[in-house]
Amino acid sequence: MAEIPFTRPHLTGGELASIAEAIDGRRLGGAGRFTQTCESWLERRLGCARVSLTHSCTAALEMAALLIGIEPGDEVIMPSYTFSSTANAVVLRGATPVFADCVSDTMNIDVDDIEALITPATKAIMPVHYAGRPPDMDRINAIADAHGLIVIEDAAQSLGSTYKGAPAGTHSHLAAISFHETKNVVSGEGGALIISDPCYVERAAILREKGTNRAAFMDGLVDKYTWVDVGSSYLPSELVAAFLAQQLEATDSITKDRLRLWRAYRDALGEAADTHGLILPARIDADAVPNGHIFHVLLANADQRAPFLNRMKEHGIQCSFHYVPLHTAPAGKRFGRAPLGCPTTEDAAARLVRLPLFAGMGEAESGRVVEATLETLKEIGA
Ligand SMILES: *Cc1c(COP(=O)(O)O)cnc(C)c1O
Repeated sequence: MAEIPFTRPHLTGGELASIAEAIDGRRLGGAGRFTQTCESWLERRLGCARVSLTHSCTAALEMAALLIGIEPGDEVIMPSYTFSSTANAVVLRGATPVFADCVSDTMNIDVDDIEALITPATKAIMPVHYAGRPPDMDRINAIADAHGLIVIEDAAQSLGSTYKGAPAGTHSHLAAISFHETKNVVSGEGGALIISDPCYVERAAILREKGTNRAAFMDGLVDKYTWVDVGSSYLPSELVAAFLAQQLEATDSITKDRLRLWRAYRDALGEAADTHGLILPARIDADAVPNGHIFHVLLANADQRAPFLNRMKEHGIQCSFHYVPLHTAPAGKRFGRAPLGCPTTEDAAARLVRLPLFAGMGEAESGRVVEATLETLKEIGA
């Protein structure tokens, strides 16, 4: 039986023709027609003030940190259970990530922790949408408003998800999404900055163009362009945007397919949860509808994880663990703080496994994953 990979990028079939069109147009740098197509698509879909396409979500997070003026001495509250990019954006500005704990059924930030982590140095809160499931943005925003803080969503995994009926990533000042090959909608490497507060629109264009007002020049607003601010090179090439333009059109079908698999796993493992001491991801409620980016399970204890992963591999199924909590990572200890500790994160991170999930995965394959999971749990004595 063929091995079932952990993930496999979905292809629409139109990518090559789109890239050929970009090549024929002899216009390969950034901010061309295909970049514009992707940005307009995302702006329509998200209904935000502006979308700025970038070469990665990491770049979009860095732009967000620059835009809100994070400086040395500032603190930014974020979950410990996230990718290094969330914290790097803050550390690159000389500021300190302050790590919050998570809740075990979504792996999202424990909102109850946030208020206690706020100090006079706190500048922003950066919630992460783990597995594409939006956190409780209303509560996070209420806390931020009460303390005059800015909210930046790391919505890297969230294209296609919704919070209270509106697209994820639009419930804060700024948000970042990713098109890395492991995400739902991909361009190899890629990302976007979602700007919901229009006050950031003009400067975002400057930061992305190496600190120049090139964008204003191209729009005919100034008669020459020059260095006007700090900045970097955050634009993707037109070749990448041409690929992405095709992918974006498939967002709804990809989301639907992944959610079908997510629900199938959740239903099939629901009964086994009690028997094997599993914690399954919370069922989907209408307030925070994920996009099926990840299906994860917390095993009964950390000792079961290595045998589980090995045994699944022997069944021909690639599973995976996920983040090392940042507050326990070498750079997290050096650059960040976790004043309240993150006991749930430490416990859950060590027990977490992710099952294979990708658009186009058939029912026979997902059925095999479920069967192998149930068998493996018995075999390892869980
Ligand atoms: C994937 C991911 C990133 C980084 O995205 P890139 O596009 O690879 O830079 C950042 N944060 C989270 C939560 C992610 O899942």
